[in-house]
Amino acid sequence: MIPYGRQDISKADIEAVVSVLQSDYLTQGPVVGRFERAVADIVGARYAVASNSATSSLHLACLALGVGPGDVVWTTPVTFVASANCARYCGAGIDFVDIDLKSYNISVSRLSDKLRAARDSGRLPKALVVVHLAGHSADMERIRELSREYGFAVIEDASHAIGGSYRSTKIGSCAFSDITVFSFHPVKIVTSGEGGMALTNDADLARSMARLNSHGITRETAEMKQEPDGPWYYEQIGLGFNYRMTDIHAALGLSQLSRLEEFLARRHALAARYDAALSDLPLVLPWRDPRDYSGFHLYIVRLNDGDQSRHRSVFEKLRANGVLVNLHYMPVYRQPDFQQFGFKHSDFPEAEAYYATAITIPLFPTMTEPQQDYVVNALREALR
Ligand SMILES: *Cc1c(COP(=O)(O)O)cnc(C)c1O
Repeated sequence: MIPYGRQDISKADIEAVVSVLQSDYLTQGPVVGRFERAVADIVGARYAVASNSATSSLHLACLALGVGPGDVVWTTPVTFVASANCARYCGAGIDFVDIDLKSYNISVSRLSDKLRAARDSGRLPKALVVVHLAGHSADMERIRELSREYGFAVIEDASHAIGGSYRSTKIGSCAFSDITVFSFHPVKIVTSGEGGMALTNDADLARSMARLNSHGITRETAEMKQEPDGPWYYEQIGLGFNYRMTDIHAALGLSQLSRLEEFLARRHALAARYDAALSDLPLVLPWRDPRDYSGFHLYIVRLNDGDQSRHRSVFEKLRANGVLVNLHYMPVYRQPDFQQFGFKHSDFPEAEAYYATAITIPLFPTMTEPQQDYVVNALREALR
């Protein structure tokens, strides 16, 4: 069985976790702060707030940006459900903008059209959640221009993209967004077990997310509403959550982070090998912008549009041969829990075309060349 993704845990990773287990603090010790600082420094952002998942970080991001009832948040339909659920947790509405069939990211021209129509009807989004699908950055410069023109906030869901860059900026630097979120789930690029992090350059957003991450409690006198009663005093000044990351998880994440460049280099080498080995097959191979460096979380191929009827059988043949292909993702509006909002599939023709043809084939740093050759041959067979 060859999975589509797999973590790579080293002896040093294990030792880092064990050393926290033997220390004074399992949670709320010094390691979470070190992990936050290390990620912020690598990506070039000023502030970082670690949490127990990217899903939690997306929720904190929306709350800090003031998303609430009566607002609407937009995102791409080709993403994990968490990119959309963060709006719903805040009581806001959710809407989708169709993708671009070359990058599989949100289509900037459709975004621009939809914004113009939304302004006319007085229903502009409060925030846009941009997803860098497979690790390839969305067109952030143009998205930032639109956010300034129409006055909405930008959250980058960079769950697939740590270590990557867009033009001359690191993904996570927030050069073109208000907040960027990373995931450290084991299938992602680096893992902390479960874990997420929100990056920002805005001190107020950072403080707000840090507070909401831990019950809405502050120990900073400057933020307090009342005079402290004594040295024990703290205040809850808003309704927060316990979304904190533990030191155990942070130790794993911090140790993994030291191999980020190595992980990406290996992913790129394997991707280049796939490009060459699959070039004669009737497939659309992953596009990447030569100006950017992808995180390459996923290697997604698409059948030609004329082969849509074979999609399921190709998928089944690969699985039957032990190649655990996947599909990232069924458009979110197709999920039963989203059907209550009445989205029409025909409003998203590119997402539909993508869903009818896409297959994620295995890609992970410990994948061997014989394993990769096996996948290539299985795909060749399945397409015959
Ligand atoms: C994995 C993923 C998430 C959620 O990450 P968790 O850390 O598992 O909560 C959100 N968005 C995208 C695009 C993802 O791939």
